[in-house]
Amino acid sequence: MQNIVCSTCNTHVMAKDNFVQFGCPGCSEGKIVRCQSCKNVSNKYVCAKCEFTGP
Ligand SMILES: [Zn+2]
Ligand SMILES: [Zn+2]
Repeated sequence: MQNIVCSTCNTHVMAKDNFVQFGCPGCSEGKIVRCQSCKNVSNKYVCAKCEFTGP
């Protein structure tokens, strides 16, 4: 089992039911993970690869 953490708050999202996972719009290599709560409040995320920041 992978340990997937939210890109914003570093919560282990595997323990949660609702999270989204998508490729970085900046480099398309990085993977962005957002838990439901960060999505709800539109927290910023930062790509680990290219440091792309997005809402
Ligand atoms: Zn989060
Ligand atoms: Zn990126």
